[in-house]
Amino acid sequence: MKPTIKHSLVVPCFNEAENIEAFFAAVETAMQGYTDAYEIVFINDGSSDDTQAKLEGLYEQHRDRYIQIIRFSRNFGKEAAMLAGLRAAKGEYVTIIDADLQQRPEIAVEMGKLLDGQPDVDMVAAFQQERKESKLIEACKELFYKLLNRMSEVDIIPDASDFRTLRRPVVQTVLSLSEYHRFSKGIFSWIGYNTVSIPYEPDDRLAGKSKWNFWKLLRYAVGGIVAYTDFPLKLPVIFGFALLIIAAVTTVVLLILSLLGHEIAGAWWVSCLVSAVSSALAFGQGVLGLYLGKVHTQVKQRPVYIVKEKRSYEQD
Ligand code: UDP
Ligand code: MG
Repeated sequence: MKPTIKHSLVVPCFNEAENIEAFFAAVETAMQGYTDAYEIVFINDGSSDDTQAKLEGLYEQHRDRYIQIIRFSRNFGKEAAMLAGLRAAKGEYVTIIDADLQQRPEIAVEMGKLLDGQPDVDMVAAFQQERKESKLIEACKELFYKLLNRMSEVDIIPDASDFRTLRRPVVQTVLSLSEYHRFSKGIFSWIGYNTVSIPYEPDDRLAGKSKWNFWKLLRYAVGGIVAYTDFPLKLPVIFGFALLIIAAVTTVVLLILSLLGHEIAGAWWVSCLVSAVSSALAFGQGVLGLYLGKVHTQVKQRPVYIVKEKRSYEQD
């Protein structure tokens, strides 16, 4: 059975058992009067709760609907889940949407209608109008996007989320990028295309906790910077150069002073300089290591994720 799908929803799920059914119901309601030719691609990103059972329950119960379930062998992260979903999705439009109903399916329909009405628009991105996050996380995110935009050649709109709808050609373009360390917000902006942003207000999570915490976000941010710009690689060069100048000036000044007959007591500045230089070197090595690590995994050509099990309406 190979139906023509108008709209695909790609739904990364990590321990979302309590939300799956409500999410599905909300999608059904939202799609009413818009299209029947929609599919839902659930990616079970190595959940340790009942997510898989809930998904299979849905699948069995709604054989008349187009549902795919991709089950990872372990937790590979949302980026990997989104990639798997984009690969599996068949629709003319593809929306990436969370399972926790913070992002309402009605907005996905709104995005679809916008694409229907405006053929020159390639992608619709939702951005959060009002964040429901702690002040610390909010401030960190702001700083992160400021830094990233300063350093990289493309602008990433702060507050942009992965919640967006892509036309088929845009999906193919995203899939044609073979990088291992995926940072979707960067990719979506780097590929260009005509993008329209619409504001949305995230609802509260229906059930469960956010999978992010400060450290996970920090790792994501560092990963994003390393994946998206090679600016940090240049930092040690700047530091090194500045230190070299300081050293040179100091040497010249001291040389002149001693030539003029001044006695220079103590050599405390030598140790300062030595430690400054060695810390700069160490820092540089650390940065190099970060990049080498990325090159290393890319060279290994490991898959971004491993699918353990797959069910799809297409197999029936
Ligand atoms: N998610 C995932 N793998 C992960 C972490 C999260 O597939 O390792 C999914 C999660 O199930 C949800 C979406 O990504 O559907 C967004 O996660 P979450 O709600 O925790 O993030 P937040 O909304 O707090 O930014
Ligand atoms: Mg959420």
